[in-house]
Amino acid sequence: MPGKKPKYKRILLKVSGEAFSYPSKTGLCTDSINFLSKEIKSIHQLKIQIGIVVGGGNIIRGLTASKEGLDRATGDYMGMLATSINALALMDSLEKLGIETRVMTAIEIRAIAEPFIRRRAIRHLEKGRIVIFAAGTGNPYFTTDSAAALRASEVNAEVILKATKVDGVYDKDPKEFEDAKKFSSVTYQLALEKGLKIMDAAALSLCSENNIPIIVFDFFKEGNLKKVILGEDIGTIVRR
Ligand code: UDP
Repeated sequence: MPGKKPKYKRILLKVSGEAFSYPSKTGLCTDSINFLSKEIKSIHQLKIQIGIVVGGGNIIRGLTASKEGLDRATGDYMGMLATSINALALMDSLEKLGIETRVMTAIEIRAIAEPFIRRRAIRHLEKGRIVIFAAGTGNPYFTTDSAAALRASEVNAEVILKATKVDGVYDKDPKEFEDAKKFSSVTYQLALEKGLKIMDAAALSLCSENNIPIIVFDFFKEGNLKKVILGEDIGTIVRR
């Protein structure tokens, strides 16, 4: 890859809570967080502007908690706070690698992070700081996928990179069906019609409206994030 130029100038990376914990476990795992920040450092060195929306599913999801009796909106607020915990863990890990970061939250927690202010976020990005967007959209009944679509639209990111455990989008579950086929690209419309598991419908619709492509790829394979930034054809791209 030496000599290759990055394909994008400003990206939005969506990292789910699962990337912060031991595989298939809950809570936080230092090794996993350090892997995450090393992968992010490898693209920061390419001098691209990076915004990151973090999930919180490794700690709590409102919908799951509501099935056990917790009030849904309260569970969602807890989920948004969970994303803030992950954001601080990622901030700490990135700063230890010498990268300047800013955490911006959709719910004000001024003692520990800046409130999200769009123009300030863009300024941070222009200065080369990694901006970690926490607390989702600030509203219950949404997900951090919607937050990724929203923040990507607001800061004019060229692409959303959706970090997952699978190497792309399939027509059916590749774990269950041997003949499952991987799409190299898929339209927003097809993804919505077929209910392909990429992002929830609200997030997909917003990306479609604002024409922001989404690349779904296996983040857990070392070097993959950099390959995507350098324009290698891995994963699945969702676009018009
Ligand atoms: N959440 C919310 N509004 C948002 C974003 C997140 O209420 O705008 C809550 C919701 O309960 C969600 C939880 O925070 O389940 C954690 O986010 P998510 O499930 O998207 O995390 P991920 O699956 O990416 O780890």
